[in-house]
Amino acid sequence: DRLTVCICGGGNGAHVLAGLTATHAQTEARVLTLFEKEAADWTASMKDNDFIVTRKNKDGGLVRLKAKPAFVTNDPSKAVLGADVIILCVPAFAHEQYFEAISPFVKRDAAIIGLPGQPGFEFQCFDILKDRARTCAVLNYESLPWACRIAEFGKRVDILGIKDALIGSKVVGRSHLNFDPVTLLQSVLGARPVLELANNYLEIYLMTKGFAHPPLMYAKWKDWDGEPLKDRPLFYQGIDEYAASCLCSVSAEIVATARAIGRLRPDLGMDGVEHLERLLHPMKATDDGRWVPDFNNRYLSEDVPYGLAVTKGLAELAGVATPVTDEVLAWCQEKLGKEFIVGSELKGKDVRDTRAPQAYGYRTLDDLAAIL
Ligand code: NAD
Repeated sequence: DRLTVCICGGGNGAHVLAGLTATHAQTEARVLTLFEKEAADWTASMKDNDFIVTRKNKDGGLVRLKAKPAFVTNDPSKAVLGADVIILCVPAFAHEQYFEAISPFVKRDAAIIGLPGQPGFEFQCFDILKDRARTCAVLNYESLPWACRIAEFGKRVDILGIKDALIGSKVVGRSHLNFDPVTLLQSVLGARPVLELANNYLEIYLMTKGFAHPPLMYAKWKDWDGEPLKDRPLFYQGIDEYAASCLCSVSAEIVATARAIGRLRPDLGMDGVEHLERLLHPMKATDDGRWVPDFNNRYLSEDVPYGLAVTKGLAELAGVATPVTDEVLAWCQEKLGKEFIVGSELKGKDVRDTRAPQAYGYRTLDDLAAIL
């Protein structure tokens, strides 16, 4: 039997997923984008054109995969009805809208996959889908499988690079799927990236690479005088000793959180890793061609509410003091115009804008372990 896969989103990643799922013999691909214009443009484009995903093969030649998803719509009742797999492939700030949209139509024993999910994905999913989510498997992958860019909207997308491995987590709840969602996703993705499963969803939260961005932004720009720069500074290579020590400390606090959780709840394995990818600081060009830091970039706008604030929340529940995280968070929240922490406690008026466990009323590690 063919499985029905609903891909949520209309961006780069959603384009690739739509193409790969459509080429796969065992799946029907549908696309849900909540932007009416994206749904209309993509549909119109496929009427007259092929839908193509390109990637380079080993000897540098270009492989063109040609296959159209069954349909693209902004109507969740059409896209989600009967879907066996629902993949969210949008930036984390859009997850809430997609959860709200799909909620009435998700069937029992479906798989809901965050590709990427980012920390707090499960909390938000259970909060919005309520009991319905407990009858589904919820998977959360740490990143997108590829570096990819839309060449022509609704027509062609290029895979620029493919990760070797991708780690994710699976919460089974009370679901009884008649297929293995990881095996299915792997067969859609092909040989790479190799999908791996973490011990549990909390481990994925603490393994997030996004945690590195807020401290590095803080260290670089905390004393910035507002004067535009001639060049864009290198992101990781530009790390000075202070930034490095700040990053190391936050990392150590996150590892301490993982160890504490493992000690308090030995049933929760916590031996994750992280590594860093990006090179340039996120900057905005000024009119005269110089650069100022872009504090609205996702290094802060995503990696704080769906990253560092979540790990801070776990630290609080594990009883771990995080003085450097707190200092970084205090600076970041000011740049974001938010109040997440007050002193060292995650109790600011905007905590609900984060996906920290506290935002969803989880008070203890036992509450979190009950989700598994
Ligand atoms: P993208 O920027 O292409 O996604 C944009 C799409 O998201 C839009 O087309 C729209 O469909 C949806 N969207 C955006 N804002 C929305 C809103 N306010 N409401 C509803 N829908 C909205 O994203 P992408 O490149 O597909 O990447 C998806 C995620 O993966 C992001 O978090 C990104 O940071 C991450 N990522 C991307 C790459 C890459 O190479 N593209 C690599 C690694 C990680």
